[in-house]
Amino acid sequence: MSNIVAIVGRPNVGKSTLFNRLTETRQAIVDDMSGVTRDRHYGKAEWIGREFTVIDTGGYVAHSEDVFETAIREQVIIAIEEATVILFMVDVTTGVTDLEDDVANILRRSKKPVFVVANKVDSNKLNYESSTFYSLGLGDIYDISAMTGSGTGDLLDAVVDKFNPDIEDESSKLPKFTIVGRPNVGKSSIINAFLGNDRNIVTPIAGTTRDSIHIHYKQFGHEFMLIDTAGLRKKTKVKENIEFYSVMRTIKAIEEADVCILMLDATQGIESQDINIFHLAERNRKGIVILVNKWDLIEKDHTTTKKFEAAIREKTAPYTDVPIIFTSVPDKQRIFKAIEVAQEVYNNRSKKIPTSKLNDVMLDVIAHYPPPSIKGKHIKIKYVTQFPGAAPSFAFFCNLPQYIKEPYRRYIENQMREHFDFSGVPIAIHFRQK
Ligand code: GDP
Ligand code: GDP
Repeated sequence: MSNIVAIVGRPNVGKSTLFNRLTETRQAIVDDMSGVTRDRHYGKAEWIGREFTVIDTGGYVAHSEDVFETAIREQVIIAIEEATVILFMVDVTTGVTDLEDDVANILRRSKKPVFVVANKVDSNKLNYESSTFYSLGLGDIYDISAMTGSGTGDLLDAVVDKFNPDIEDESSKLPKFTIVGRPNVGKSSIINAFLGNDRNIVTPIAGTTRDSIHIHYKQFGHEFMLIDTAGLRKKTKVKENIEFYSVMRTIKAIEEADVCILMLDATQGIESQDINIFHLAERNRKGIVILVNKWDLIEKDHTTTKKFEAAIREKTAPYTDVPIIFTSVPDKQRIFKAIEVAQEVYNNRSKKIPTSKLNDVMLDVIAHYPPPSIKGKHIKIKYVTQFPGAAPSFAFFCNLPQYIKEPYRRYIENQMREHFDFSGVPIAIHFRQK
């Protein structure tokens, strides 16, 4: 889960410059998600150890503008609905425009914290100019230069102060599952099937934003939170915004979940959009289960399952141990199995391997096949330990970590997977200087 900071403002005030500055050290999480490929509009950022998501709303909406004002208003609405904190960016070299007065009116009525960010304050003499933005009636003005970064520290200090700590804390200790996938694969149907028996739902808990619902579910010895965003798609006339919202929902759901149940439509096979979602989950180091749904619509012989599996494995390589389950919602075929397997993947992801066992097994593996010497230098791995944290992450301490190359890292990962069950779970392997 993550707090969201949205940047709104007219074109050319410097939104994308600030966005890039805030996210530059972090990998963009959606750079290749379809629908938002033209630019990066989401990114992960961090300030004093607090992670958050930044959205450049303008970067997206401005592209689809017909009417300039409408486009800006769309941005503001998105920001008000989705963000924890809104940065209203203005340009100190141009002053207040009518449009900005309008935007300020909307923002004043919203209940979200808004910061007026006066950009392009590249020198002290422009500080004076920025006081004109007090007329927007939105409180303090934060002078920054997105270009040089000056002033951004003070701004971020104030911004993280407004974060909702509940979003950051792992508030619930229950496993959190989410069902993700393209439209029409059957996400709502399966959620309804799970929830068919009302007694299974302990409490529907409103999410941290009104757009995700956490359903506390309990049945057959399984207790988990289901993060449901599927039923909340916006009705909007702008086609691109449907994609925008659905990508955003997917990202949020993945960030909030421990295990992502990626649903495919058997009649369509696995497509690039599915792979994008897969990688989004994988890069966020979430557990993954693949459901091939609508299995009832497929004509089958004894090779069909194998063929489907092979096709999926090929597309998701090098991940070979992600569970794949063939489901049909109307036939209730294996839908509870999906939950069982998600629970197993959750257990794999939360697994802590005792250091002694880890060393016994892995040092032996390494002794049989040590890292190849480079430039006559022997690389000795002496000690292995698991880092604390939600997702499995391991440190292999050695004399010359910089000489260990990707093929050996992969070998170690494969051996880890062979000896300890991590199916469905991305694991991180680090080589560190002892
Ligand atoms: P956006 O349309 O709001 O995303 O604005 P951009 O980030 O694309 O910036 C518009 C222009 O303003 C670009 O030419 C930037 O280089 C410039 N710019 C952005 N931030 C600053 C700044 O802090 N100082 C100055 N002088 N120019 C800036
Ligand atoms: P969502 O957009 O992913 O939430 O998909 P829906 O749950 O709305 O399902 C889209 C359509 O597929 C609906 O008409 C469902 O009745 C149908 N559907 C869902 N699961 C199955 C399935 O397993 N088999 C068949 N034959 N149809 C399904």
